[in-house]
Amino acid sequence: MVKRPKPLSVLIERLNKLPGIGERSAQRIAYHILKTPEKDAEKLSRAIMEVKEKVIHCSLCYNLTDQDPCQLCQDPSRDKGTVCVIEEPGDIYSIEKAAGFKGLYHVLMGALSPLDGIGPEQLRIEPLVERVKEGGVKEVIVATNPTLSGEATAMYLLKVLKPLGVKMTRIAHGLPVGGNLEFADEVTLARSFQGRQEL
Ligand SMILES: [Zn+2]
Repeated sequence: MVKRPKPLSVLIERLNKLPGIGERSAQRIAYHILKTPEKDAEKLSRAIMEVKEKVIHCSLCYNLTDQDPCQLCQDPSRDKGTVCVIEEPGDIYSIEKAAGFKGLYHVLMGALSPLDGIGPEQLRIEPLVERVKEGGVKEVIVATNPTLSGEATAMYLLKVLKPLGVKMTRIAHGLPVGGNLEFADEVTLARSFQGRQEL
């Protein structure tokens, strides 16, 4: 059997490890890269390295950023009294696009899932508690996903934050149960913000 040159097999193998890239797509991308001018291939590899070197988590809200604090946390026009809690940094883009939300965010970096070994210590819950304790936060909008673990996380946050005297709301369930914030359409997401209910 004729084998592919080793560097080509390695590239296909690497691409195949990426989410959503099956064996055939990996091959197609690898052969495409092979045909690409060297400077374009170099730009691609540099983009991959730069994302690793320069993108960090904001020390206040855990958003992805290349400056700390992030752009949103530094924006004086945003309402520092309202903090929207989400599971993943990507949720910020969905909400920014849809909901007309003008407060700040707090990314938990996941949701509670005891079966997968994800407890409160694995999430950025303690820094959120600290943020609320520091004062200035009047409302916490819990916008975790409408899934079992998203709900469990919302209930846990209620337990630890409510005693601190902050108003707590949960975005309304116009969102499909079991769904993901990232994939919600803009109208549904905007409506779920307007219809949020006190916890
Ligand atoms: Zn930030």
